[in-house]
Amino acid sequence: MKTKGYAAQSAQSELTSYEYECRALRDDDVAIEILYSGVCHSDLHMAKNDWGWTVYPIVPGHEIVGRVIDVGAKVNRYKKGDHVAVGCMVDSCQQCTHCHSGEEQFCEEGFTQTYNSPDRHTQELTKGGYAKNVIVREEFVLRVPESLDLAKAAPLLCAGITTYSPLRTWDVGPGSTVAVVGMGGLGHMAIKLAVAMGAHVTVLSRSQSKKADAMELGADAFLLSNDEQSMEQAASTFDLIIDTVPVKHDLTPHIPLLKVDGTLTLVGQVGPMAEFNTMPMVMGRRRIAASLIGGIAETQEMLDFCARFNILPEVEMITMEQINEAFERLKRADVHYRFVIDMQKSSF
Ligand code: NAP
Ligand code: ZN
Repeated sequence: MKTKGYAAQSAQSELTSYEYECRALRDDDVAIEILYSGVCHSDLHMAKNDWGWTVYPIVPGHEIVGRVIDVGAKVNRYKKGDHVAVGCMVDSCQQCTHCHSGEEQFCEEGFTQTYNSPDRHTQELTKGGYAKNVIVREEFVLRVPESLDLAKAAPLLCAGITTYSPLRTWDVGPGSTVAVVGMGGLGHMAIKLAVAMGAHVTVLSRSQSKKADAMELGADAFLLSNDEQSMEQAASTFDLIIDTVPVKHDLTPHIPLLKVDGTLTLVGQVGPMAEFNTMPMVMGRRRIAASLIGGIAETQEMLDFCARFNILPEVEMITMEQINEAFERLKRADVHYRFVIDMQKSSF
């Protein structure tokens, strides 16, 4: 099947219209017409080769919501017309301990990413959600609960699961104190999810301008990260800090904010981190950890959780033609709070 997407041809080039052939439908495949596609900061990192492993041309996008248009002979979970979703993974070995325990993101062979990853059968590079269509193995297709607004649901597939998973890993619930560093796509979902789980939630942002939004989203408190006095007053108050900052930065000011045995989990910057002082870690048996998206079963659990509590991201709808401008705004942290591409309104 021929399809159209938007691709970057090099780290320097903007994304432009690109035609390509989707892989042939296999027996266990679901063919999807993409309706909405979220814009994650990882798409920007990958398009610009920030992590050093991008192969061009690249069609980004791993927050996909769409409609089933065809299924392979052995598919039994989905049928034509179903509303489905795809996140960051489209395949894995399905044999190793981690795949068996529902944590395909840690597949011993490495999971197949939704874009820019070799297909396990043909070695062709996968192409993501900035497109009209995608074909995905049934096991990696999620069901969108009926009550969720389709136009807003796409960001749940990465921003949602990437923040839901650490909240579950570190047992956040009523009485937990959680801080979220960086109020962007991931950060604003972390606020909503942690609030729904019953936690007391504090936002740490560089910008006072996000305070009103943070409180509106349900946060209980707001800390300006460069206000030293307020930071000192918040010492030893958090069970969990989720750090979503997308660049190398100094963790030293955040570590003392943890209680004894508290955990700061990184979900943002992938790569070298600025040197930090271990003194406050040692003095409070505090931990620095990290987290990677979430497994397929957990992603479905998150979608169902969001349907139950009616949790959806704050979105700015754009067309495919506006993606380069959207990337520029994402770079400046000027998004409220996730861009979603409306494929049907796009005329490429
Ligand atoms: P985003 O929407 O751009 O949000 C990042 C937020 O971090 C910004 O809104 C800003 O918040 C803060 N920030 C931005 N630049 C900063 C800087 N130079 N110094 C300090 N703070 C800064 O990005 P996102 O889509 O949420 O993604 C965040 C990161 O998570 C990216 O690096 C992405 O690749 C990564 N990611 C990881 C996983 C995973 O599985 N671990 C999954 C998805 C994404 P304030 O203005 O409030 O300070
Ligand atoms: Zn993402």
